[in-house]
Amino acid sequence: MHFKILGVDDSVTSCDCCGKSNLKKTVALDDEGEIVYYGVNCAARALGFTDKTYSTRNASELVTRFNAREKLRQEKARLVAVADDYANKSGHAYVVTRRVIRGRVVYGCMKEDDYVRQNKFGVDVVYTSQPITTGGP
Ligand SMILES: [Zn+2]
Repeated sequence: MHFKILGVDDSVTSCDCCGKSNLKKTVALDDEGEIVYYGVNCAARALGFTDKTYSTRNASELVTRFNAREKLRQEKARLVAVADDYANKSGHAYVVTRRVIRGRVVYGCMKEDDYVRQNKFGVDVVYTSQPITTGGP
């Protein structure tokens, strides 16, 4: 189940998740192709943001957090593709790394050998390409 936020809507006032009505706003979610309207807190839980309670008051914070997470997810997916591409071209394994710098997550991509040599505190490998065996002479 992978929800995406489409927007915050004040024309729909009941939650498709729990049935609560007379809400000030709902969050329009794309539920794998189907559009559903959830109250802000139900939407937050459906999206996996369970560390605090969300309501109409902080709906925009939920959207901001969701967009930041989506951006990171896309950046990671892009670097996974880059790692695979480099591996295919070079025959070496590449890794996608993740580290947190002043509270911000930063992904990177490097040759696996270089990662092993340079591994520093706080740098995790989140993806490793397959080393390509070229075969032949
Ligand atoms: Zn609900």
